[in-house]
Amino acid sequence: MTLPGPTEVASPPAPVEPAALPAPLRALLEAMLPAAWLVEPTRLLVVAANPAAGALFGCSAAELAGQSMRTLAAAPEDLIFWDELAAGRGGHELLSDTLVRRFDGGTAAVTRRIAPVQTDGGRLYLVSLHDRTEQLRTERALETTTAELAATLESTADGLLVTDLAGRIRHCNHRFAELWGIPEDLLLRRDDDAVMDWMRRSVVDPGPYMRRITAIEEATMMHASDQIVLHSGTVLERITRPQCTGGRPIGRVYSFRDITERIAAHKRIEQLSHNDLLTGLPNRALLADRIERALAQTQRDGTPFALLLLNLDRFKHINDTLGHGVADRVLVEVAERLQACVRQIDTIARLGGDEFVLLAQRSDAAGAEAAARRVMEALQRPFTLDGLKFTVTGSVGIALHPTDGAGTDQLLGHADAAMREVKQSGRNAYRFGSPHAAVPESLLRTRMRLDHAMRQALAQQRFRLHYQPQVDLRSGAVLGAEALIRWRDPELGEVAPGAFIPVAEESGFIVAIGDWVLRQAVAQAALWHARGRSLRVSVNVSALQFRQPGFVDGVAATLRAAALPAQWLELELTESILLQDAEDTLARLHALARLGVHLAVDDFGTGYSSLGYLKRLPIGRLKIDRAFVKDLPDDAADAGIVSAIIDLGRALQLQVIAEGVETEAQRNFLRQAGCDEYQGYLYSPALDVRSFESLLAGQAETTPRVVPLRRHPGRVGYDGAS
Ligand code: C2E
Ligand code: MG
Ligand code: MG
Repeated sequence: MTLPGPTEVASPPAPVEPAALPAPLRALLEAMLPAAWLVEPTRLLVVAANPAAGALFGCSAAELAGQSMRTLAAAPEDLIFWDELAAGRGGHELLSDTLVRRFDGGTAAVTRRIAPVQTDGGRLYLVSLHDRTEQLRTERALETTTAELAATLESTADGLLVTDLAGRIRHCNHRFAELWGIPEDLLLRRDDDAVMDWMRRSVVDPGPYMRRITAIEEATMMHASDQIVLHSGTVLERITRPQCTGGRPIGRVYSFRDITERIAAHKRIEQLSHNDLLTGLPNRALLADRIERALAQTQRDGTPFALLLLNLDRFKHINDTLGHGVADRVLVEVAERLQACVRQIDTIARLGGDEFVLLAQRSDAAGAEAAARRVMEALQRPFTLDGLKFTVTGSVGIALHPTDGAGTDQLLGHADAAMREVKQSGRNAYRFGSPHAAVPESLLRTRMRLDHAMRQALAQQRFRLHYQPQVDLRSGAVLGAEALIRWRDPELGEVAPGAFIPVAEESGFIVAIGDWVLRQAVAQAALWHARGRSLRVSVNVSALQFRQPGFVDGVAATLRAAALPAQWLELELTESILLQDAEDTLARLHALARLGVHLAVDDFGTGYSSLGYLKRLPIGRLKIDRAFVKDLPDDAADAGIVSAIIDLGRALQLQVIAEGVETEAQRNFLRQAGCDEYQGYLYSPALDVRSFESLLAGQAETTPRVVPLRRHPGRVGYDGAS
């Protein structure tokens, strides 16, 4: 449509004498709501106009009278109509959308109708207009809103489906089609039934799915959240809410989210918490649960039961000569054989390493003995792996309830002592535990000697702390350090913590050592902090130390004395600490977390923590035990475990650090698996303060450093000795 240029704009002309118009017609014109006027067909002049017409053109009705239609019409279609009419060829009606030109030069969009009116004085033409300006503005605003809404729908990560009350599709986004795998042409056909049918056929359980949809559609105000499993294996979370206007439902919005990974992580958490990863057998936690139940049963009706603890003989030898891969397969086969030789009601669990427990229900001494014999027989058949034939034997210690002990720990302790006796007297046999099994005297002597030497070492300040850098896997920056105790005794030489810490734990002296370590490490962290090189220092905490009544206050006081902000201290706790007396542990952990101290689970994966329980603890990170790192990336089982722990960490929003990283290949694997930090000989062993500081000084803030695989200089077999 061509609009007239600004120079052609009409100006209000002098009013002309209106032609004589019948009074009823004038009254009718005046009364009309839409803009209207009458035109005589020869000179095309306005005979009379109503006030609405004046308002539309921006003048008075009187000023319109006498105007020529040639100036008032703005569109070619109108001009042609009037010209034809003046030339005597017109006489038709005209109804269409057009533009009129106002006196101020602007134009107005209108729907215009021209129709002839016969009067006594001859034929006139009635022009009536409906102003469309407001309608067009509303339409444009609606278009913008719709476009914005569509963009919003497309930009969400969720699949969205909007239906009306009858279940017809009013809108959906691409993500919706993607999640359900709906082909594009199906959507373009706008065949709602076909789309609904596609969805029905995609779900694993169409029956319950359809029943639920019907229920949702019937209850128009219902809010609902469901999980839907598709044939593809995808698990969708569907949330639906009513869509309302003016408080009344007009349809429904469904949103779909892919929660497949979340579900898988959850399942893995559940499985990890109850089953041994390698063999799939129940783990210690599940075993403890079953023992508790058996204990309760005995209490109710006196039914006895037996615990048989099986430790494979010289398994270390298999590990060393045939490698971990074969050793793992031996464990798996042992597990299978054991399962095959017990009754349905019994439980075979793996405690870790090469140690298994059989819980023989309803068994007295005779029953337990029969079970032990079956176990020995099951092992007797030779193993054939990789074309290699060999035999595996085991030593079994037996504890009976109620005769040998009242609780799980006590029973397992007696079975363990009996098993050790079997080992000492030549292996490959079983023996019943006695409540007073003795620790061999030679062992007692070394322990006493160590204990005495340790007490002197503390008094004479022979303990030192070394620090092992903890490195960000992505940037290569040193973010923290683990404080590790070192002890050189004038008589015993360098004693590895793995040798003396367990003795200190047994005698209780660990509390004093732990106090010293904490004070020392916090003082060191404070020094670094004051010098502007703040580092998170991790301190190992023993179970006994953690359980001391004043432990949390002691930590707070130590931090205060050194003026170290709590965030720079991390406490490494073992899984066994977390499993103790749940309520007290929880209270302590929360008190520590409130202080601002970080908490880590050390040697993660070796214990039996129920991960469902871990979820509820204020733990900041998991430390993957180096046993799992050692054979990365080649050992498939370890690679699986490590990836699972990292996934778990992610699911529980915990940081993950791996320890014992010795090779580039291990580091690469961990980085790719999404692990956050690592520590190990690859970067550096634990160093004395001075060496540690010079390593930091040499470290370019963000570039990864590679230190060749080496033991601590001048200390043979120390760091790796534990
Ligand atoms: P941990 O807390 O798991 O400490 C890590 C151990 O791995 C340290 O052994 C460390 O030197 C060693 N390590 C680090 N990188 C590598 C590596 O790349 N390869 C290998 N093979 N080993 C590596 P360490 O110092 O002998 O300590 C052994 C255990 O003794 C510690 O295990 C911890 O449980 C305990 N411990 C050490 N210091 C303390 C302490 O101050 N208090 C308490 N309660 N326990 C301590
Ligand atoms: Mg540690
Ligand atoms: Mg550790």
